[in-house]
Amino acid sequence: MAAKIPVLICGGGPVGLALAVELGSRSIECMLVERGDGVVKVPKMSQLSTRTMEFCRRWGLAQQAKQAGWPAEHPGDFIYLTSMTGYELFRQRFAPYSQQGDLSYTPEGPRQCPQIFFDPILLRHAASLPSATLRHRTRLESFEAGVDGVSTEITSMETGRTWKLAADYLVGCDGFDGHVRKALGVAYQGSGVLSYSLSIFFRSRELATLHDKGWGRFYRLVDSSGHWSDLIAIDGRELWRLTLFHADPEIEIDGFDSHGALIRAAGKTFRYEIISVLPWKRRELVATSYGRGRVFLAGDAAHQMSPTGGLGMNTGIGDAVDIGWKLAAIIDGWGGPELLDSYEIERRPVALSSVAASSDTYVYETSLPRSTAIAETSPEGERARQQFAAALRGRRGAGNERLHEEVKMSYCYENSPINWPDETAAPLTKGRKSGVTCRSGARAPHAWLGNGRSTLDLFGDGFVLLRFDRTQDATPLDDAAAARGVPLRVIDVADSHIANLYGRKLVLVRPDGHVAWRSDRCPDDAGRIIDRVRGFSNPASNL
Ligand SMILES: Cc1cc2nc3c(=O)[nH]c(=O)nc-3n(C[C@H](O)[C@H](O)[C@H](O)COP(=O)(O)OP(=O)(O)OC[C@H]3O[C@@H](n4cnc5c(N)ncnc54)[C@H](O)[C@@H]3O)c2cc1C
Repeated sequence: MAAKIPVLICGGGPVGLALAVELGSRSIECMLVERGDGVVKVPKMSQLSTRTMEFCRRWGLAQQAKQAGWPAEHPGDFIYLTSMTGYELFRQRFAPYSQQGDLSYTPEGPRQCPQIFFDPILLRHAASLPSATLRHRTRLESFEAGVDGVSTEITSMETGRTWKLAADYLVGCDGFDGHVRKALGVAYQGSGVLSYSLSIFFRSRELATLHDKGWGRFYRLVDSSGHWSDLIAIDGRELWRLTLFHADPEIEIDGFDSHGALIRAAGKTFRYEIISVLPWKRRELVATSYGRGRVFLAGDAAHQMSPTGGLGMNTGIGDAVDIGWKLAAIIDGWGGPELLDSYEIERRPVALSSVAASSDTYVYETSLPRSTAIAETSPEGERARQQFAAALRGRRGAGNERLHEEVKMSYCYENSPINWPDETAAPLTKGRKSGVTCRSGARAPHAWLGNGRSTLDLFGDGFVLLRFDRTQDATPLDDAAAARGVPLRVIDVADSHIANLYGRKLVLVRPDGHVAWRSDRCPDDAGRIIDRVRGFSNPASNL
């Protein structure tokens, strides 16, 4: 191990682990310190977004995520109901994975894979990568960032020994209110606490046999007090999480009536075993800065959002991928300073829109119509149930899951200093189809190449120049990249459907799969293009 580690990652939650995987996949030496033992006790995030699954595909982890927990033959429905044994009010259907077939916009659709299954997949993979070192029960105590590096103080929680470790870069993936953000003096901005919630994680084989609603992913419980909780099927067998939307801010876990809440959700008594009870705060916050100098923030350290919509961890995984390839480019010697500047410019707007969509859904869900009669067996109850269903149909669609798929897929690094601006108009922010827009800054679209290979499988190692017309001379770009040590492959694609999808004869794709530049002809000054996408606005000084 080098005396100075290139990248020190503080925090071994899913985001820190994803960063270790991203750096380790690029053979960048990094060390992750995590004060905990690495065992995940609470499921938290339940569904990997399409984009997270696409990253998993690149890391070789998609199959493991698919097989982690949720049975492929269970539907993923969202079911509004008065209790598990009560009245069904409304259902948003999602076909079982086994019946979904190929999706038009991605090689990997979203997958139920809660953190109790996902974090260990990341952890095992990160630990297997030769350039990544994971240190559990190890805490970052303090750091001092200078022009040439970051000096840190680390403590082993096993032995109590404290030692100094020098790093070129430090990334704080240390969750909400983490030390790295506070030490940088970066504030959070936003509404703060939206509500006090509480999750009961429990085991019960019996619960699924009590009712006639069948399997779904989310059971949204609505009674005379309105939509009061969500019951989430964690593994489609016996693990469940009941999340209450409004808990007492001063709640004492010992005194909390978990039994009462579970019976209220089920509508009758049943056998269960409580695994944990976790009070938590639903927050809406984004850090005002994503880092300074050689220190960066990613994941919950940088943004906090309501889990309604499943955007929190998935947004953090996108951060890890973004900062990961940029740090790798700098450490490998071909990346310039604007790569690091672009991290905040690209990722903070994604957090702001994710936070807004999550809060929006929280307000939407908790303001659904209320009726004291909704669970009653009476004409008034029947009327209330019909009104509830009509209200859901009349609003923008129950559950908002499809809207969130848009938010998760269609973000575009529109104003990034490292992309060459597209000359086409920006796509509409609402109502466009998920992730199919090809433009500079957007995720390069998926199309099948044959034999189960996606266009997305072409990306990851360095830049890729897709050439849809062999008469175009790609040599100037190729040569300019080679002269600057920028890894670039020219790949010819002779498929008119994919050519139409990508919209230009030449499309340059970044290591993270986002489009950097598109044109119908190779530029006269190819060096300018390459310099911009590798983060040098003043290339002369670096040649
Ligand atoms: C009930 C609930 C439901 C959720 N549902 C979803 C969902 O459906 N979809 C979704 O995308 N997200 C969801 N989330 C959010 C998701 O769990 C978080 O966004 C995610 O865990 C953030 O990951 P992270 O790695 O950034 O931070 P964390 O998971 O908080 O990890 C930070 C780690 O840093 C470590 N650490 C802190 N300080 C130090 C230090 N000084 N030295 C060493 N280690 C340190 C901590 O021990 C911790 O392990 C949910 C959250 C909750 C609470």
